[in-house]
Order: sequence, then C-alpha cells, then structure tokens
Amino acid sequence: MTVQGFFSAKANMASRAYEMPRIAVIGRGFSGMMMAIALMKTVRFPFHLQLFDPNSSVSGGQALAAGNSSEILNSRVRDLSVSAGDPDDFNQWLCGNAPFRSAVPAAIPGFLQIFVPKSIFSDYVYQRFSEAFSSRRDVSVQVSGDLVFGVRRTHGGGFHVDSDGAANAPFDMVVLATGYGLADETSPAGDIETLPTTVRARRLVSRPHTILLGSGLRVVDRLLQMRDSGYTGQVSIVSRRGFLPQSHTRNNADPIFPAEEMPNQLSEIVRFIRRACEAAEGDGQNWQSIMNGLRKHARSLWRSLPARQKQQFNRHLRALYDSHRNRLPEALHLRLQQELAEGNTLLRRGHVIQRTPTGLIFRPAGRQDTEQLYADDVIDCRCQAPDLNAPLLRSLIDTGLAVPDELGLGLAVEATGALEVNGKATGALFAIGPLGLGSLPDIDLVPEIVTQAYAAAESMAERFHPRCKAV
Ligand SMILES: Cc1cc2nc3c(=O)[nH]c(=O)nc-3n(C[C@H](O)[C@H](O)[C@H](O)COP(=O)(O)OP(=O)(O)OC[C@H]3O[C@@H](n4cnc5c(N)ncnc54)[C@H](O)[C@@H]3O)c2cc1C
Repeated sequence: MTVQGFFSAKANMASRAYEMPRIAVIGRGFSGMMMAIALMKTVRFPFHLQLFDPNSSVSGGQALAAGNSSEILNSRVRDLSVSAGDPDDFNQWLCGNAPFRSAVPAAIPGFLQIFVPKSIFSDYVYQRFSEAFSSRRDVSVQVSGDLVFGVRRTHGGGFHVDSDGAANAPFDMVVLATGYGLADETSPAGDIETLPTTVRARRLVSRPHTILLGSGLRVVDRLLQMRDSGYTGQVSIVSRRGFLPQSHTRNNADPIFPAEEMPNQLSEIVRFIRRACEAAEGDGQNWQSIMNGLRKHARSLWRSLPARQKQQFNRHLRALYDSHRNRLPEALHLRLQQELAEGNTLLRRGHVIQRTPTGLIFRPAGRQDTEQLYADDVIDCRCQAPDLNAPLLRSLIDTGLAVPDELGLGLAVEATGALEVNGKATGALFAIGPLGLGSLPDIDLVPEIVTQAYAAAESMAERFHPRCKAV
C-alpha cells in the first residue's frame, strides 16, 4: 500500500509544523512504523513527524514484507502485539477480522498460540498506525520518499537531515530506523570476493542447482518459496557453521528459567543453560521454554560480560544462539527436515572463498583443500549486520554524534535506543531496532522493538515536556 495519499487530509497542519517539536524517523520498516505508533500513542502534545524512506510501500519492512502471502511469521501471535502492556492486542485484531476468522478452523477459540502469514501482520501494523494517526488531530505527519545520507547538528542544537530531496527545516529529534539498510543494497561480505549478489551462470550440470548462502530464517524462507513456486532443482545451503533454525514446540512454550544465580563466565553460562535445557526436557517440559526464559535475562547477562567474552560469543556462539531463538513453526521445520532427508537440499558447512561466474569456490569445514561448486544461481540470504560505512551512519560516526558498539555490529545505544557517546545518552538521537544489536541482545525481534519504541517515545515526551502544553 502506498502512503502518500493517506496524509493529504492533514495537509493543513503543515503551516503549524514549524512551531511544533519536529521529529524525523529515518526508515519506514517495522521499527520506523512502530516508532511512529508509539509516538502518537505516548506523546500527549502536538508534534510534527516526518518519515523518510525511498521505499514507497509500508509493508512491515524487509524482513516482514511478504513476497508471497503464504509466508508464515516465525513468532506466535502472542509475541507480536504492537500495543504497550496489552499482549492480547494482535489476537483481538485477528478475532475482529472476518476474512481471517472464516479462514481458520472454528475449533480454534483464540489465536494467541498460532503462526500467521507475514502479510496479515503487516496489515495489522498498518491499521494500528492509521488508527493512531486518525485519533491525533494535533499531530502532522509528512511522508518523504527521500534517501537520507547524513544528519548534522545545527547551531541551535537541532539537526539537519540531509537527503536527496528538498531541504527540510531542522528537527529537534532524529530516530534512525534503518535496520538492515536499503532493500536493494548489495553489501558484499568481507570474506568473499565481490560479485553481484545473484549470479546467473551457464549450466554445467544436468539438473538446475541453486546455492543459498547463510543458514538463518532468510534461507529457509527462500528455499520454501522456491519450492512453492515450482522449483525442482537441487539446492545447496552453504554456511560457515551450518546451524539451521530449530523448531518451535507444537503448544506454547511458556518461559521458565532456573532460580539459581547464573555464573559470570561465558563458558560456565553455556554449561548452565545446557543443563537447564536438559533438566527441562527430563521433567517433561522443553528446552524452548528455557530459551524463552533466557530472553528475559539476556540484557543483564550481556551487560555483565566483559568485551572479550562478548567478542567470543559473537565469533563462536551467536550462530548457535540464533538458531535456537529464531525458531520455525513446527510444520515449516518438518518441511525443511524432509528436504534435507530426501537429499533435494544439501547443507554444506564451510568457508566461501570466492564467487565465480559459474558458482563459487568453497573450503569445506575441517579441510584444507577447496572445491568449485557449480550453480545456476548463488543467492545471498545471510542477515548482514548494518553497514557502518553507509553514508548516513558514517556521517554520524565521523562527526561524533554516534559511536559503534564495542563489537562493531551497529551503534552504541541504551535501552531506550538513545545513542550513547562516551557512555552518555545523547537524548535527542535514537536508533531503534537491529542497529542496536551489539548493545542490546534480541533487539532485532518484534517484542523487543515494540518495548524499545515506547521507551524512546516516553523519553522524548519527557524531554519536550517543559516547553510543550499537553493536549
Ligand atoms: C526472514 C526473517 C524473518 C523474521 N521473522 C521474524 C518473526 O517472525 N518475529 C520476529 O519477532 N522477528 C522476525 N524477524 C526479525 C525482525 O522482524 C526484524 O528485525 C525487523 O523487522 C527489523 O525491521 P527494521 O524496520 O528495523 O528494518 P528493515 O526491515 O531493514 O527496514 C529498514 C528500512 O529503512 C530504510 N532505509 C535504510 N537506509 C535508509 C536511508 N539511508 N534513508 C532512508 N531510508 C532508509 C529501508 O529502505 C527500509 O525500508 C525476522 C527477520 C528475518 C530476516
């Protein structure tokens, strides 16, 4: 759905827009839309909001946009509410959605435990955004299709947002919600010699063959999409560590976690969690409940680790952790297992040395020699960390408005998303969502992004309060 037309009704607000606090949100993926909802529901005085993104559709962002209506989200409905303090909100929305209700078995009384297509979640987010906006006659919203390439401080203490469009008046607050970067951006991995992300090669083998790089949710999404659209060729999943997403449980896995104090060394923490998982399985519960419980401790645990142990986690354990937290609905996991068991899809663990016009050169794990893998297509499905050399992030880092986190995965932020420079929150610049992944574990997931967006909105309301009259 395009958004430009939606806002014309509030064009008369534009003349007042310069008098009100001005907030820029850069990126209209899930984090940007969530930030807009949180601001409209939390900041109780007039303000002007400008949403920047060259991507003209509001679709839940790259990860949640559905290319295909059958693509299922990997989180249960209970974990996808965008309403602060009301985990039932998405379920209520689904219950009131007649076409959805009639499409699911009448025996299911509520939808909290089920998995739904991405397109439905996207509709829900957009509707909640529209409702929040319609209820605020005192807020003006401007949607801009501009690409932002810099943010600079003004002499008056505000911020200029530099974009490829018309110049804008300065903003009081800027929220970065640029997630994984631009949708069509090809960010070559440092360890692979550059060729375009998709390589179409001359066929050297009789059966079509596609290589998917990575091992996370994007790989599984892509593989199942290919099969759903009739692709019958061979697929190789090529990944350094080869940890594919694990399965959700059939029924809900309510969070549990041992009451004992957790150790403070990474290796002991891993043993502690492993033992807790084994004990849960032994008691007739499941390891997924422990992983759900761990998420509640993840922030304090992460904060307490010294930088060296964080680096060790990133190098050796992140892929394993991701495969256990980003889980697949049971039915999708079964399909993946079937693909692997039947040999139509092969998992190849190892290191990609170089892309070639006919596939890639690969060093299998544990071996010194290399192999040429021939393929018609090589598709990069790896979830790259945000590119700190993208012009926008570079401009902030070069002028000291932001600093990379200690792992260089994104920007240093505090829990509200406020950028942290020299250990102090800047207060007027925020990064919501995956940009903060090096500072806050799991901040790339919907529940954490929702909590962060409301916390950021509260913090902005607080900051503006002295000069603004509440409505
Ligand atoms: C395959 C997959 C499935 C997932 N499933 C789930 C799930 O089931 N449950 C869950 O909780 N999480 C899930 N996630 C994770 C989570 O949903 C994402 O982390 C989240 O959607 C991130 O949204 P975002 O808006 O921050 O980033 P993005 O979706 O990357 O959006 C960023 C936006 O910013 C724009 N942008 C970038 N740079 C600029 C610029 N310079 N100027 C202007 N605009 C710019 C881009 O065009 C883009 O529209 C999934 C992730 C993946 C990869």
